Amino acid sequence: MHRKLAAGNWKMNGLGASLAELETLGGMHATSGIEVLICPPAPLLSRAADAVAGSAVTIGAQDCHAARSGAHTGDVSAEMLKDAGVTSVILGHSERRQDHGETDAQVRAKAEAAIAEGLLAIICVGESLEDREAGRTLDVVGAQIDGSVPDHGTAHDLVIAYEPIWAIGTGKVPTLEQIEEVHGFLRNRLSTRFGAETASGIRLLYGGSVKPGNAADIFAVSNVDGALVGGASLKSADFSPIIAALESA
Ligand code: PEP
Repeated sequence: MHRKLAAGNWKMNGLGASLAELETLGGMHATSGIEVLICPPAPLLSRAADAVAGSAVTIGAQDCHAARSGAHTGDVSAEMLKDAGVTSVILGHSERRQDHGETDAQVRAKAEAAIAEGLLAIICVGESLEDREAGRTLDVVGAQIDGSVPDHGTAHDLVIAYEPIWAIGTGKVPTLEQIEEVHGFLRNRLSTRFGAETASGIRLLYGGSVKPGNAADIFAVSNVDGALVGGASLKSADFSPIIAALESA
């Protein structure tokens, strides 16, 4: 089993001055029993990797293109991310699915490109409030998993983040029973596809309004192997207690 993972998604937040937060976080977590990852916006990646060097914190990106190079103005390839010193990349976040119309097939192609470069692909799935209220949650996340996850995924290069869209940035969190139901379902779905041994090693993160105050309860839910954290990852003072909660879970 891989180490539990606390991943922070800064989204489109952060300037050069924010690197001081990373230095603080790295200083607070020089070593760790879990994996700690921060995903800043692309212009900061290289400097962020330098800022956390020598600590337990590593740096990830928030997206990549499926192609290795070429005529794709404004895009960044997995090879470029690797070259900038990142270890991981978030793919198929609901904001990218919504803002950029990313499909499951595109997310899958990006994940294949990331894995081919030796990056950890963190693939996001999650239902809308409308889907949840219509009782379609498991159908939706099941279809996203089937469509977005590459065929040759392994526990070494793949992480799944369950992020109900209605819980992202809203302060609303599913009940612990709802989280348990979806995570159990995802584990089974992966098991059917990749076999029980591989599926048991693929980390399943919960994401959506994780805060220092609710992290320990969420980490006690079965099949929760960590968190993808948005707002509460921007300040080391907020993210550090979440890391500590996962370390002691
Ligand atoms: C996210 O965007 O991945 C997220 C979980 O955001 P927040 O923690 O702010 O809800």
